[in-house]
Amino acid sequence: MSYFRQTKIVATLGPATESKEMLAKLITSGVDILRLNMAHASHQWVDDAMWFIREASVEVGRHVGVMMDVKGPEIRTGIVDAPIEVTEGDHFEIHVEDANPTGDVAAVSVNYPGLPQDVKVGATVLIDSGLIRMKVVAKDEERVRLEVLTPGSISSKRHINLPGVFVNLPCLTPKDEADLRAGVKAGIDFVALSFVRQGSDIRTLRAFLDELGSQAKIIAKIEDQAGVRNMREIIAEADAIMVARGDLGIEIDYHRLPLVQTKLIAACRDAGKPVIVATHLLETMISAPMPTRAEISDISNAIREQADAVMLSGETTVGKYPLESVQVIKNIIESIEPSVTFELNRRLVLEEPKAKMLRSAAFLAQDLGESAIIVFTRSGYLAYTLGALRPRGVPVFAFTDIEPLFRQLLLPWGVEPFLMNFCDDPEQTILNALNLLAEKGWLKSGTMTVAITNALEHGKVVESLQLRRMP
Ligand code: PEP
Repeated sequence: MSYFRQTKIVATLGPATESKEMLAKLITSGVDILRLNMAHASHQWVDDAMWFIREASVEVGRHVGVMMDVKGPEIRTGIVDAPIEVTEGDHFEIHVEDANPTGDVAAVSVNYPGLPQDVKVGATVLIDSGLIRMKVVAKDEERVRLEVLTPGSISSKRHINLPGVFVNLPCLTPKDEADLRAGVKAGIDFVALSFVRQGSDIRTLRAFLDELGSQAKIIAKIEDQAGVRNMREIIAEADAIMVARGDLGIEIDYHRLPLVQTKLIAACRDAGKPVIVATHLLETMISAPMPTRAEISDISNAIREQADAVMLSGETTVGKYPLESVQVIKNIIESIEPSVTFELNRRLVLEEPKAKMLRSAAFLAQDLGESAIIVFTRSGYLAYTLGALRPRGVPVFAFTDIEPLFRQLLLPWGVEPFLMNFCDDPEQTILNALNLLAEKGWLKSGTMTVAITNALEHGKVVESLQLRRMP
């Protein structure tokens, strides 16, 4: 078998990639999941993007999952007529939407009415994704007076961060709910929720998706101190996690970011949940054809830490080199992955006998050397768990007859999904799977595989782990 890539690639869609022609190239290039960032998208755009994605997928014969990223309790500046320039030492005011500004200094409104109550005098407020730093010097019920520490230009709808503040906004805003209705209608496979602070945020989102009749998998974006503090309960509730390093690097001390990344990846591994490392992986490739050496090392680090996926944002939304960025990531994965040595994931607790069989299957396949694991799944659990076990150098070929699940199986590490009808006779199903793998050139004739499958024994269905040679 030729090289099999185990780390997955997520790319965000934007002006640089949203045409059908670019989408076809992006999908062919090896992207596994496309992300629709609802900070900047209309519902019409979602509809068009989904249509183009599915059409392009059929044309190029390769499928991708689609993730809708909803903004959650994000704090933003209101509308300003023209950008406000602030310089170091200036005083500035932020006021709640219904209040009038004091009028003696430049001011902007904020969409979060609790901001004056939540920030203390002396606290830091960051505007425009951390670019402009200010210190609170005074406040009343409706206004906060700030001193500018780092200069910049403040325009409409800029992101505000309040490091360390537990923001008292609902985890799903009315805009998120409207976005999700549009996304579910269009057929999204994953929902990424921003600023998840506690496990109950995921339960709220899950209940909303249930109401809409959606089976979309939930990815919790960890991007503030509350999310980090409550990571274990969030991981337990969510289907997957995103280390959203853009905001996380503002909300916590930036020099602790690698420690938090390591902790989050390890906690996900313990729980058997996929984890995506996001933001600034190839930031310089937004305008340059080659990455910095530091970016190469950062991606290598995520692969060595065994993240399930790495994610591109600006590189593929507005960058000049979106396809080259995907190629660079693939090259790094291909060089680094084979050099990573690690044991099977022994910390993952498997309760059910069938789940325990997965560990034996992974162990056996690794021991066989050049082999693969074949699994049949209708809930995705067996395939997600096999990925979480991290069988080194062994592909997990996951077969399902459920189309949305087929695309959701594109996220976990090392899993290659196939959509295939199942037969009443389990033996026929496994023969069909082996033939499909041969037809598509995934495995050579004679290769030994480990199959987790049902078998008929004297008319009874029994769960089994079988050694099967490729026809
Ligand atoms: C991030 O902050 O790293 C992130 C992925 O979120 P967004 O791009 O929505 O700010």
